Amino acid sequence: MVCAGKMEFNYINKNMVCMSCGLSLTRHDLDQYWKKIRESNIGDDDDSTKKKSRRKEWLEWYSSSKEDKSR
Ligand SMILES: [Zn+2]
Repeated sequence: MVCAGKMEFNYINKNMVCMSCGLSLTRHDLDQYWKKIRESNIGDDDDSTKKKSRRKEWLEWYSSSKEDKSR
């Protein structure tokens, strides 16, 4: 998982094993890992930050164009 190598299921110990570095993870470890990723994705919230800054730009443009008209 750390090296992002191909994961394969090991039927002997029922773990997921990384084909690149040999790291083995249990089903429980994998669940925790994906939960962590999902939580960090929600925390970033990249899309709404972009939308907010776009709205701010638009408001600045709008207020400046209004000033032009009143002149
Ligand atoms: Zn690995």
